[in-house]
This record gives sequence, structure tokens and C-alpha cells, in this order.
Amino acid sequence: MKAAVLENKGALTYKDVPTPEAGPGHVRLKVKAISICGSDIKRFVDGHRMYPLILGHETSGVIDSIGSGVAESYIGKHAAIIPLVPCFECEQCQRGYYSACHSYSFIGSRQSGGFAEYVDLPERNVFILPDELPFEHAALIEPSTVARHMLTLGDFKSGQTVVVFGVGSIGLMLVQWLRILGAQKIVVSDLLEDNLKIAAKVGAHITLNPSKVDVIKEVQRRIGDGADLTLEATGVPQVLEQTISVTRPRGKIVLAGNQPLDKSLPLTFIENMMRKEISLNGCFMSYSAPFPGHEWTDTITALLDGSLDMDTMISHRYSLSKAPEVFGKIGAHQLVHQKIMLNPEEA
Ligand SMILES: [Zn+2]
Ligand SMILES: [Zn+2]
Repeated sequence: MKAAVLENKGALTYKDVPTPEAGPGHVRLKVKAISICGSDIKRFVDGHRMYPLILGHETSGVIDSIGSGVAESYIGKHAAIIPLVPCFECEQCQRGYYSACHSYSFIGSRQSGGFAEYVDLPERNVFILPDELPFEHAALIEPSTVARHMLTLGDFKSGQTVVVFGVGSIGLMLVQWLRILGAQKIVVSDLLEDNLKIAAKVGAHITLNPSKVDVIKEVQRRIGDGADLTLEATGVPQVLEQTISVTRPRGKIVLAGNQPLDKSLPLTFIENMMRKEISLNGCFMSYSAPFPGHEWTDTITALLDGSLDMDTMISHRYSLSKAPEVFGKIGAHQLVHQKIMLNPEEA
């Protein structure tokens, strides 16, 4: 089969690799749609823990074969990949904290992923879908679940005022979930006008561009003492610092942006957090018990009733064979994009 393989830092190759067979307890997915995740781009640009690796975890397709011990009825079913492969046995898995598993694997990061014509998956890692759901929408289930998980961690309640820093794909999914779950006011901040425009289209009430306005002053002017909940999806240290200033006393902050590990924060951050008695929550992946969690079933419900708008999130479509070119352009900052879909069949 053909696959896009990460062979080194900055080196992605479209080439022939052995076609996987479904192992015992596994199924094989014939891939129909893949979307590129920011983390795939990071693995390409910054390098990764292992090579060669088939990237990709935002993937959907049709189950075309099964291994021993798997029910025949799986064949022909439409499915999305659930990328986390927890051990289901360690203490954290027993508690339902699957992303804290002591020995997890992850499809598209620690084992072969979806940038391919076929993927071999454990039976528990397929999320079976109704046939009427478009494959592109199904490929975007995973990033939606991350946003949904952040709102659970932030204890979001309808009627709250929320600030979202960064409206890339996770931020746009956050705006959508906030709209669906009844936020009273959704304020977003992003440097890219394109992102702000789409955020407004999917439900943001106030869009702020930090290159044009002082975001902290603007939030204070518009919502007084600050947001009930602030969501950080940029991974920029200066933005992380600002989250405290735009959050009301006793408010909550949830962090999902990956920060540069060679930077540090001034302790005034902690001082201000203490004075305002703010709760700060980390977010890692999108899982809860029973596996994979309500984040996943909520997404399906919102897709089927039409409340989650995936089409507006997609800015580009390419054949999978173009993946090396597309990643090269993104790495060189030559492609302004929201969600990019890859299609293995047009190769
Ligand atoms: Zn992702
Ligand atoms: Zn475990």
C-alpha cells in the first residue's frame, strides 16, 4: 500500500510499505479521510521519538477485514480511529484516567497511523459510526473530543462567559462546543484574521486580534471582572501569562497548548493566581470512562443533529500523495490553513 512516512525530522516520504493484516483481536480500516493535526506538524518540524513512522490519528474509513476473535459484523462498518491505546490494567486505567496510563501506545505517534491506505487497529480503538456520517466529518471527531474534554475539565456551565486564546482547530472546536452548550459570551483572541473570521462564523461573539488591541484591557472593558472560564490553546508563554488577567476571581483556566519547554514563567503568575483563587487545570488528550468517554459520544450526537459544523473548519483538500509537499509548505510557513484533509484514494 501507499503511505506517508516520517523518516526523519523534516523528511516525509510518500511510498510503498507492506499492507497491514488485521492481527488477533484487531480490525483493518480502509482509510477514507484523514485530517492533519497540529501535533503531526510538530512531529515533522521538530522531529519525533521514533522513525520511520506513519503519522496521522484524525482518520476515518471502512473496516474491511478482521482478525481472529473479532465479530464478523464489524466488516463493512464505518469507523473513526480512537488513537489512544491504554493498557486497561494499570492503576490509572482502572480509575478511568486513560491518558495517564503507565504504558500506553498512540496510533500515529507510537505506532503506525492513518496517513496510509490501511491501518491495523485493536478492536477497542475503532469508534463505530452511522453510515450516513460523511468521512471527512468523522475524521474531525478526535479534535472535537479534545475541546469537549477541556470544557469538562473546566467545569463549564451554560450561561458562563468564556475567553478562548487561540482559534486554530482546537480553539474553533472550543467555540463550537461553547455555542452548543450555551455560553453566554464567547470572546476569542488570535493573531490571524482568517481564524477570527471563522471563529465568528461558528459562534464567537467578540473577536480580538492582539496585534491590533490590548487583549487584557479589551476583555476588562467588555466583561468587567473577567471570564468564568479561560481556555488556552496557543502554547505561547506570554499568552499563558495573560490567562490570569482575563479570568475572574475564583474562575477557572484550562491549558491545552503545548508550551516551549526551554522557557519559564515569572512567579507573578502564581502570585496572581493565588490572590484571585483561580483553579488551573491541565488537559491531555480526550478520554474518560467508559472508554473512550462521553467526549466521543457527545461529538456523534452533535454531528448527527447538525450542531457541530465541520465543513466550515476545512480549508484545504489534497490527495495523500501530496502530503510531503503540503507538510513542506506548512513547515516553511507558506500555507495559511485551518483543517487540511487528505484523501488516500485520489493518490
Ligand atoms: Zn489531533
Ligand atoms: Zn494503563
